[in-house]
Amino acid sequence: AKQQGKAGHHFFEPSLDERARHRRQLEADLREAIRAGAFELHFQPLYSLTEERLTAFEALVRWPHPRLGLIGPADFIPLAEDTGLIAEIGEWVMHEACAQASSWPEPLAVAVNLSSRQFLSPALPSMVVKALAASGLPAQRLEVEITESALASNVEKTLETLHALQGLGVRIALDDFGTGYSSLSHLRLFPFDKLKIDQSFVRDLARETNGHAVIRAIITLAEALGIETLAEGVEEASQLAVLRQEGCRQIQGFLLSRPIVGTEVSHFIADRGS
Ligand code: C2E
Ligand code: CA
Ligand code: CA
Ligand code: CA
Repeated sequence: AKQQGKAGHHFFEPSLDERARHRRQLEADLREAIRAGAFELHFQPLYSLTEERLTAFEALVRWPHPRLGLIGPADFIPLAEDTGLIAEIGEWVMHEACAQASSWPEPLAVAVNLSSRQFLSPALPSMVVKALAASGLPAQRLEVEITESALASNVEKTLETLHALQGLGVRIALDDFGTGYSSLSHLRLFPFDKLKIDQSFVRDLARETNGHAVIRAIITLAEALGIETLAEGVEEASQLAVLRQEGCRQIQGFLLSRPIVGTEVSHFIADRGS
């Protein structure tokens, strides 16, 4: 249990000073990792319920830190966004993801996450063009995932970027759908190809009586707008059964597989079929 000091300090929590120092150290380490290209991609399969086959793998970045061990994206992507280092990390991720995917059997696609800062950068379309050209991966086998926080307050600007990517043949998925606060107007305004229903809704399927109705409404709405649906964070067969019943197109989650290292992807495909 935590002890309270007289001034209300938590003795065992790092002080502001320590946290600032840790952050500066982590930033220096991150710069070094970028220089050395010392990141890893793990891949998690996306499965089509309507076609009963694997359709893609989502690339999820990890940072094997020399002292701290394997660091997940939640613990360094925000820092990378704040410091602008995300541009270089994101470029590495895009190139590496396309390069690895180019060795997978057709028509398997790769899904790459874009942070909001990346999505709003004018350099994004040309960076994607370069990664596709360098890897030989057809644009049709690349999907990018953005969250609602990436959508500029400026609708024109967002549309311009969406159209530039879609013009190349790249598909665009709206990630973590339902967690933003103006999700419905975003669907009306922007031509997304896919909607990834946030895992919190899938979790709620079991817990709440209304969970089922919410999932149904999201799927119905997306279908009406011609947008494909994928449910994230599917962990249990009972969740899968509901999603199937409601006509959800695709699933992703631990039920199917945890994220795996790149070298395991070909084994996974061979074992589970595509
Ligand atoms: P996300 O894009 O929503 O990715 C899904 C996250 O949920 C992944 O965590 C994945 O490991 C986890 N997950 C998948 N299936 C399940 C499940 O059945 N149950 C549970 N509880 N979790 C599941 P991860 O890899 O830690 O990534 C966290 C977030 O970091 C991602 O969320 C994404 O927003 C961001 N991220 C990952 N890679 C990149 C990247 O290359 N660039 C950028 N900008 N962001 C990235
Ligand atoms: Ca994602
Ligand atoms: Ca997500
Ligand atoms: Ca997320």
